[in-house]
Amino acid sequence: MRWSDLYVPTLRDDPADADAASHRLLVRGGFVRQLMAGHYSLLPLAVRVRAKVVGIVREEMDRIGAQEWLLPAMHPAEVWQKTGRWEAMGEEMFRLKDRKGADLALGMTHEEIVATAALELASYKQLPQTWYQFQTKFRDEPRPKSGLMRVREFTMKDAYSFDLDQAGLDRSFERNHGAYTRIFRRLGIPAIPVQASSGSMGGSTSIEFMSPTEAGEDLVAHCACGYAANIEKATSVVAAVEDAASSALPEPFDTPDAKTIDELAARHGVPADRQIKTLVYVLDGRLTLVLMRGDHGLVEQKLLDTMAARTLRPARPDEIRDALGASPGSLGAVGVAHLPVIADEALRGRRAMTTGANKDGVHLRGVDVGRDLAVGQWADLREVAVGEPCVVCGAALAVVRTVEVGHIFQLGTKYTEALGVTVLGPDGSRVTPVMGCYGIGVERAMAAVVEAHHDDAGIVWPVAVAPFEVAIVPIGGANEAVAAVVGSLYDGLRAQRVDVVLDDRDERPGVKFRDIELVGIPYRITVGPRGLAEGQVEVTVRETGGSTSVAVGEAVAYVR
Ligand code: ATP
Ligand code: MG
Ligand code: MG
Ligand code: MG
Repeated sequence: MRWSDLYVPTLRDDPADADAASHRLLVRGGFVRQLMAGHYSLLPLAVRVRAKVVGIVREEMDRIGAQEWLLPAMHPAEVWQKTGRWEAMGEEMFRLKDRKGADLALGMTHEEIVATAALELASYKQLPQTWYQFQTKFRDEPRPKSGLMRVREFTMKDAYSFDLDQAGLDRSFERNHGAYTRIFRRLGIPAIPVQASSGSMGGSTSIEFMSPTEAGEDLVAHCACGYAANIEKATSVVAAVEDAASSALPEPFDTPDAKTIDELAARHGVPADRQIKTLVYVLDGRLTLVLMRGDHGLVEQKLLDTMAARTLRPARPDEIRDALGASPGSLGAVGVAHLPVIADEALRGRRAMTTGANKDGVHLRGVDVGRDLAVGQWADLREVAVGEPCVVCGAALAVVRTVEVGHIFQLGTKYTEALGVTVLGPDGSRVTPVMGCYGIGVERAMAAVVEAHHDDAGIVWPVAVAPFEVAIVPIGGANEAVAAVVGSLYDGLRAQRVDVVLDDRDERPGVKFRDIELVGIPYRITVGPRGLAEGQVEVTVRETGGSTSVAVGEAVAYVR
């Protein structure tokens, strides 16, 4: 490829509206342009990176025996109604009607659709199956932000496994877990696997892969012993809502042998649609407990909408610790606090249970959120359990801000049951297969790579996903010897299947060097008359900034 044929509209200055490093650099580097909030055009350089990300994910999925499908992006309402998610997905789902008036959805995930496809499975002999696709997902996010990190239209690699029984699902889950570890390692994304709650997906075991970045919206607590958890889980927090009219406030009780919040919720028969989350926020400088259901972003947005002039942000662990008076360096205590509380309108007049964990086990406590509570109103929370102990070893946890780059779930039979998927079992009876699902956001992964690999001058792509691996820059004006060496290096690299771009633009070397650094090409080979007089070219490594003189004949091998 010749740079003069490429369309790479680099910008001299940072875009004014970009907070995250990846957003700033992908716009400046000429990779993306915004159409409207949450919708981006990918320019040629971004398409090259995206293809490499997709290639790595595809290789690793194929390696574990998964098969590629392509399911429709537009869905009939009926399949979503069968699982109850036509209602449950709420405002995050884009909906439309066709000319006949039929209700349709733009797919935000594909469990219902893949389970429909699985209706044709006939026998246990066909199991296990793992099916995956790269498909556009649509989500009406309350707050699209940070460039490609949170958008309303994105490519997801979503995979779905079907097994005969739980033991089979455990094996499929492990295989996918392994694939994810390899994928993130190859992409250069430092992903931490953390235990997570499974939200609207239902099901039990769930692991999120979280990549540290200041631009992320999730806090992860992790321990030297290997334990890691989403902070909402570590600090307390799946809660069950009981209707004030139908039940009395439960006595606090402990369930020391429950290892996870989900396990505990399941043991006490708390259905997923009755669960709320309690999160600690700082509202106008005061520590505040926010009770919410469903998507945090949505509730946050609602709060901000109703309290225009106020500021709201998640509380830091040290702020919570200070408020509860726990010992410094550890949040090992389950404290009692009288925090003001704000609840979602839907929780008005309800009573809740919150859960918390410390090294002695997982605790469930009844809390009274007060009556006649409306959005934006204040009330006293009688008791709140906040603990951030490592539940495995009891040591203090470190907390990092992260973005979710992948998520794997054990779904059980929720979808196969709702859609009526059965196969003939070994003993001739009908068996409902158990499902798992496994997602990675492709464009968010690109952004996460940039978050993890950049410096003041621009992006530093790992070779595996770089738009080009090598840029060749001729300097010193028209010169036959330079032109000949540039031509042979270019051909030599292409013959070795190295992705190379020849910067043949009529620009000063400084301009070319700056662009090559900004767009993040891992190697630059500079060819000039002075070096050639010694039989040498200069190889510059983007990551270190270091340059080395290399004999012309060794340059191809040097950058391969
Ligand atoms: P988040 O918690 O960030 O909203 P999620 O839990 O809703 O993500 P999943 O439903 O688990 O996301 O989808 C699987 C993957 O799809 C995520 O791990 C992420 O990589 C990607 N993804 C989800 N939402 C978005 C989005 N709005 N923009 C870009 N990628 C996304
Ligand atoms: Mg989401
Ligand atoms: Mg999530
Ligand atoms: Mg998720």
